[in-house]
Amino acid sequence: MTAPIFQTKCPSCGKQHTYSTTNPNRPFCSERCKLIDLGRWANEEYSIPAPITSPEDVDSLPN
Ligand SMILES: [Zn+2]
Repeated sequence: MTAPIFQTKCPSCGKQHTYSTTNPNRPFCSERCKLIDLGRWANEEYSIPAPITSPEDVDSLPN
């Protein structure tokens, strides 16, 4: 009996590839794509704009 083979789409690059339980990078097609996706999440987390005015800006405001 052979394991069923699934074709799945890589969430990072969108490439069709074979979904295998032996693939440590699933559901990504490669380690590169996995790292790209992880990096994207990290960047989104750090790119949240801070609504805080810096002390320099406050000092330069006219009274
Ligand atoms: Zn990929």
